Amino acid sequence: MIGKVIILLLLAVGISFSTVPSYATIGGSNAGYSRSYAIEKVTDNVFAAIAQPRGKAASNAVIVVTGTQVVIMGAHFVPDSISELMEEVGKITTAPVATVILTHHHRGYNYVDYDFPLGIQIVTSWQTWQTLKESYRELKNPVIFFDKSLTLRLGKTTIVASNLGRGHGDGDVVVYLPEEKVLFTSDLFFNNVIGYMGDGYLREWVLNLEMLEGLDTRFVVPGLGKVTDSEAIGRFRVFFTDFTTEMLHYLEKKKTLEQTKKNFRLPKYESLPGYREFFNQNIERAYRQLKDQ
Ligand SMILES: [Zn+2]
Repeated sequence: MIGKVIILLLLAVGISFSTVPSYATIGGSNAGYSRSYAIEKVTDNVFAAIAQPRGKAASNAVIVVTGTQVVIMGAHFVPDSISELMEEVGKITTAPVATVILTHHHRGYNYVDYDFPLGIQIVTSWQTWQTLKESYRELKNPVIFFDKSLTLRLGKTTIVASNLGRGHGDGDVVVYLPEEKVLFTSDLFFNNVIGYMGDGYLREWVLNLEMLEGLDTRFVVPGLGKVTDSEAIGRFRVFFTDFTTEMLHYLEKKKTLEQTKKNFRLPKYESLPGYREFFNQNIERAYRQLKDQ
């Protein structure tokens, strides 16, 4: 019995490793890892940590310095990317990292998002908390989870975290800083790159993009790609709509998943980084998810 459990556990780990939503291979090779993040100053107190194609981070993060403490926001945090991020914070300020706003967590990725230093408090949506606590791993940090939105006022900085429900996953959190007019979309929006859509809810995702595009922003930090503005969210929404429309054509014609994978084409977007790397996972998810609706 125990042997069987171990085999099942190994299988589960093996499966999750083979389908990791990794950004590291987009650069074309696994060889020669670089730094995980390039730090970009957005405003005096806000810094974007942009995931690098050959690094260990699978998603961008944001560092907010509030005077007495630092807030980090993002997702897909592996131990290496956490320690690199802590080093980057140390270059900016001596203030300690007190809070991580975890924007989402992908079910089954048990080696991601569980290894923050113990003094850090995690803030996340109730759906993400549910997903985290269903794992065999235990998140040891204190957790605050919320339903609709949560506002932190730290020094002179206001941070509004909103739970958008379904989109890139279930319980996606976006973060808005009203004074700085900075929006962090996390993986709901990829800028000029295609990312992992394997847990996505496509119809809700596009509605959330429309809403985010309409916010009053000066700077938008995406889940992947460089810091940009709301017009770039619009361009991603157009890609997203084209992708969904194309998929619906295959479903209307009652094509199988294999036929769809073989013939699905979007020539306008095929040269974007990530398109081919995430193609199978994204097509499978879109096919199954839209078919069920
Ligand atoms: Zn993600």
